[in-house]
Amino acid sequence: MIYVDHAATTPLKKEVLDKMMPYLTSEFGNPSSIYTSGRKAKIAINEARATLAGILGAKENEVFFTGSGSEADNWAIKGAAKMAKGKHLITSAIEHHAVLHTFDSLRKEGYEVTYLPVDADGLVSPQDLEKAIRPDTGLVSIMAANNEIGVIQPICELALISKEHKVPFHTDAVQAFGNMPVNVDDWGVDMLSISAHKIGGPKGVGALYIRRGTRVANFIHGGAQEFGRRASTENVAGIVGFAHAAKLADEHLDENIQKLTQLRDYYIKKVKETIPYCRLNGHPTKRLPGNANFSFEFIEGESLLLMLDMKGIEASSGSACTSGSLDPSHVLLAIGLAHEIAHGSLRISFGVENTIEQVDIIVRELAQIVQRLRDMSPLYEKVARKQV
Ligand SMILES: *Cc1c(COP(=O)(O)O)cnc(C)c1O
Repeated sequence: MIYVDHAATTPLKKEVLDKMMPYLTSEFGNPSSIYTSGRKAKIAINEARATLAGILGAKENEVFFTGSGSEADNWAIKGAAKMAKGKHLITSAIEHHAVLHTFDSLRKEGYEVTYLPVDADGLVSPQDLEKAIRPDTGLVSIMAANNEIGVIQPICELALISKEHKVPFHTDAVQAFGNMPVNVDDWGVDMLSISAHKIGGPKGVGALYIRRGTRVANFIHGGAQEFGRRASTENVAGIVGFAHAAKLADEHLDENIQKLTQLRDYYIKKVKETIPYCRLNGHPTKRLPGNANFSFEFIEGESLLLMLDMKGIEASSGSACTSGSLDPSHVLLAIGLAHEIAHGSLRISFGVENTIEQVDIIVRELAQIVQRLRDMSPLYEKVARKQV
């Protein structure tokens, strides 16, 4: 099997599981309990918080553990909207659904949302943000790196504009974290969401950074966990695993970026050489090191995925068909693709365990499958006939 869908989730690292094991077995105490096993669990959480804060350049009391990246996004957006003076909010057209659908829910509650467009490469323009901010704007939320096309936004510039207008700025950094340097002060953001399972950690644990002084309503009411702001008995093993995965990603960041970039660029070059009628989606260089998203004309992404799966290759389509909808990806439509082209898209997201040999296999299988699917396409037949 060749797994190239690391933007969807990553395999749990062995070293991470080893760090988690004690907290799933012998060290099961409730971190809120005052006896020894409880205190040990509490210490482990504090250490994990310190690790993550150190990596992010944050203070320990600015990092809050959550149940996922989606929860961190929900908390930041709903929490800031609730405390905002005005009812106008700004986001981009290419956000993850955890952000987009949260804004949708706020619209139903009477907030007004501006969705900033992106250019053909997937970039948000700082000038557009400047123009969209109004006196009643209560929050700006723009993702650091996109999960489908990998494009990296000019977060420093965007956050600075928001700051000049005294509007809190949130970024969904779930894809960026572990794949590029992420520092809350370098970026100048007020809130930032991250998730463990995208960086070799366990599923079901995330974190929200909230800069001191940012007005954000508490999220889950109950006990005093997470400084009284997000109740729930902590996912101790998950939190410990998250911090260790982040530490490993941070320590190996440069070499990982180099390796992923090499795999990606090799794949991109090979696909362009081998398969006609394809286009790379997203900015050619301002993109995540492991992301390559191609559209192949005259084919349907779902068939492509199924046929790749039969060859033992696990990847993702840019379209939302998998979730039972026939609508093409909102991200691909936002960069200006026609529906039929957006449908024929394939996202490959590499991880450090992938190899150049695997890329060769993927391209070989992909070329054959694309050709087979095109041979069945009446539209392609017309184009092929014109050529001879
Ligand atoms: C995966 C992802 C999320 C959601 O994180 P979960 O921990 O799976 O809830 C949010 N935003 C982006 C950009 C993602 O890639």
